[in-house]
Amino acid sequence: MSLKKGVPTADMGRDERHYSTELAVIGSGLAGFAASVFALSRGITCAQVGNTGAVAYTTGYFDLLGYCQDQWLDDPWRGLELLRESEPHHPLSRIDRKEIRAAFDQFTVALTEMGVGYTAPADRNHFALTPAGTVKPTLSVPETMLSGIEARKVNARTLVIDILGLQGFSAKEFVANMRSSWPQLSAAKLSFPDMESGGQVFPEVMARALEVSSNRERFAERIKAVLGDAQLVGMPAIMGVHHPDRVHAELQRLVGVPLFEIPTMPPAVPGIRLREMFEQAFPAKGLTLVPQQKVKRLELEAGRVMLYLRDSFGEMVIESKTAILATGRFLSGGLKAERVGVREALMGIPVIQPGSRADWYRQDYFDPLGHPVNRSGVEVDSRFRPLGPDGEPVSDRLFAAGILLAHQDWVRQRCGAGVAIASAYKAVEAAARLLQEQ
Ligand SMILES: Cc1cc2nc3c(=O)[nH]c(=O)nc-3n(C[C@H](O)[C@H](O)[C@H](O)COP(=O)(O)OP(=O)(O)OC[C@H]3O[C@@H](n4cnc5c(N)ncnc54)[C@H](O)[C@@H]3O)c2cc1C
Repeated sequence: MSLKKGVPTADMGRDERHYSTELAVIGSGLAGFAASVFALSRGITCAQVGNTGAVAYTTGYFDLLGYCQDQWLDDPWRGLELLRESEPHHPLSRIDRKEIRAAFDQFTVALTEMGVGYTAPADRNHFALTPAGTVKPTLSVPETMLSGIEARKVNARTLVIDILGLQGFSAKEFVANMRSSWPQLSAAKLSFPDMESGGQVFPEVMARALEVSSNRERFAERIKAVLGDAQLVGMPAIMGVHHPDRVHAELQRLVGVPLFEIPTMPPAVPGIRLREMFEQAFPAKGLTLVPQQKVKRLELEAGRVMLYLRDSFGEMVIESKTAILATGRFLSGGLKAERVGVREALMGIPVIQPGSRADWYRQDYFDPLGHPVNRSGVEVDSRFRPLGPDGEPVSDRLFAAGILLAHQDWVRQRCGAGVAIASAYKAVEAAARLLQEQ
């Protein structure tokens, strides 16, 4: 049977769909999405499979590196030098600084073009606002959140609002925790249109409601009623799921002062925005997207990689010249923690991990060194090919990216997006080289 690029072909004998492509991306977290963005920009035909992972939990901030050698980093680029000295095996230590910058630049430009505006990565970290009223270092933020970060720096007179019935975000708590560094903050609570009873409200539902102009108008009137002499207004991240920058601009026009979003507790709108935007934009760019499904089996054959999966229409096979494994860690199912150790879930690729289960955690939960199990992951060579038991690449055609990679503790080091975006860039570059060589 002949196969066409990215096009399903009917196999008359069986109830299966077959796709053929140059690159198959396994995983739809930040690393998988970034890999598809980089592949499409190189003109590589691409298929992507994955269900909701950690992306729906993120704040929306893209951290490059926020913490290294016991210090919070104002300059993440200098931080990368410190990291290279202290952790030469860390995935970010193995990628040239110029390439990391190019990866962030290309990814944030692509997101902005697809409809979710992001700030360009600069020379310094932002100290971005968290729902608890603290700050965290990060490199790139959604445009809808930038003016709050700037307002804190100049102690602007700012009103933070929360919404009756919203769990996990309190304007009073935010103001109480932030007031020492931002004295001109105040808090107010208001009700969302048609939710005045005080019943529970959800960020995603409110975000979708604010895409409707009449809801925006009614909500803006309620903000104006509590505005007082505030120069800016901060609010939970609910400014639309699709085209948030439009909703942001329109709300600002109606209220008459700059507004900004503050991330809420997960699952949160900024991650849902990214996921839905990719799900809409990628197929329009020619990518074969299989959302909300997992690859059940992956086979490495001479000259090709075969992916086997099943969706609600039945069995599906993706035949690809190359593949990138970007399946995440425990939360997304890329790694499984079992009684005898940590296992890579799809292919049983060896996992770098503590010698025994007894060594997974340190005694003190808050030990500043972190817990060894959080550095578990797949080892790769300089071309980001996962290594097998003999220390050699499992295949010339299989690459790995994202937090599946070993030797990093992204939570503690504030480098989640950095590892995902930069390693995806390198994995795609290596896949592109192989495709060119053939
Ligand atoms: C609560 C929370 C808050 C965060 N906040 C931030 C932040 O502020 N800044 C920041 O930079 N980062 C943050 N992150 C981290 C960020 O989300 C991760 O760094 C990033 O998502 C890692 O991307 P990844 O693609 O490597 O893995 P994941 O996002 O975990 O994605 C893995 C993907 O692989 C898929 N998958 C697994 N197995 C298969 C299979 N067999 N077949 C197909 N697909 C499969 C999963 O469904 C998932 O889609 C946060 C994460 C969490 C959980």
